[in-house]
Amino acid sequence: MEYNLLGNTGIKVSKICFGGLTVGPLQKKMSFKEGGEVILEAFNNGINFIDTAELYKTYGHIKYALDNFKRENVVISTKSYAYDRAGAEKALMDALKELNTDYIDVFMMHEQESEHTIRGHYEALEYYMTMKEKGYIRSVGLSTHCVNGVLGAMKYPEIEVIHPIINKNGLGIQDGTLDEMISATKSFRKQGGGVFAMKPLGGGNLISSIDECFEFILNQDYIDSFAIGMQSVDEVQDNINRILGVKSPEDLKSRLINSNRVLNIDEWCIACGECVKHCSHGALKIKDDKLLVDRNKCVLCGYCSSYCKEFAIKII
Ligand code: SF4
Ligand code: SF4
Repeated sequence: MEYNLLGNTGIKVSKICFGGLTVGPLQKKMSFKEGGEVILEAFNNGINFIDTAELYKTYGHIKYALDNFKRENVVISTKSYAYDRAGAEKALMDALKELNTDYIDVFMMHEQESEHTIRGHYEALEYYMTMKEKGYIRSVGLSTHCVNGVLGAMKYPEIEVIHPIINKNGLGIQDGTLDEMISATKSFRKQGGGVFAMKPLGGGNLISSIDECFEFILNQDYIDSFAIGMQSVDEVQDNINRILGVKSPEDLKSRLINSNRVLNIDEWCIACGECVKHCSHGALKIKDDKLLVDRNKCVLCGYCSSYCKEFAIKII
């Protein structure tokens, strides 16, 4: 496994980061034990980096893995939408408690769009900095789907790590092109910032060209690591093989081909439109009292499902 320093943070991370969304209730809905076992498989095979979020509700899965692994050998990144001190304090305390850890390695502001949204979250950022001084957080960062989120991060020296969306097609970039995202991210990296990309497979939408996706992301030399969602031991093994340049056995490949994910809308959807409001990728719309998904825009993040009171939308 290749390990890199995450910018100037002094934190060493594996080239591949376990994307923690997939095992939880927004996607595969695995029990803590089931999901924890998949995470543990990754840890035992050299992946030392895991990313999650307050929203994902996967602290229990990660805790299961940590109960069976050395905490100090794992780098944990999490994130919160909190914008004020009270929200940030709750987010951090919940993370520490539910993960049963004394510190978080990377604490990020979730889905920042520009310097303006960062300014709007500054109270939370100040709190994270205070807690960094006290040793509860090792580094502070942000996640973003926007070029302007990356450019905004460069204006705040407090932000040491970014988690931008980068894949070969630029899928999911909300305010610009792939070239603009790469250029902004390179500039952040040049300043000494840590970069771990997200969604190299476009949230699963680019799975049919997975070889090219990996080739692309592994050639981006300004990226310290990239997070990829994994929901089975097969996926963990295949991803590790790809990093090591080893061909996965044919039976493993065919099992993976047969387990592609899709956003599913159940027949009991009442077309209330609530999920539409929360899809920042513009992939959902209501037409003729029916919820429609634009599968070219959907990055299978599963965020919309957390807003459906009818439990009618999910990644399966
Ligand atoms: S929130 Fe749920 S019920 Fe409402 S449109 Fe979306 S999927 Fe349908
Ligand atoms: S439709 Fe749902 S899963 Fe797809 S991009 Fe929008 S929020 Fe994410």
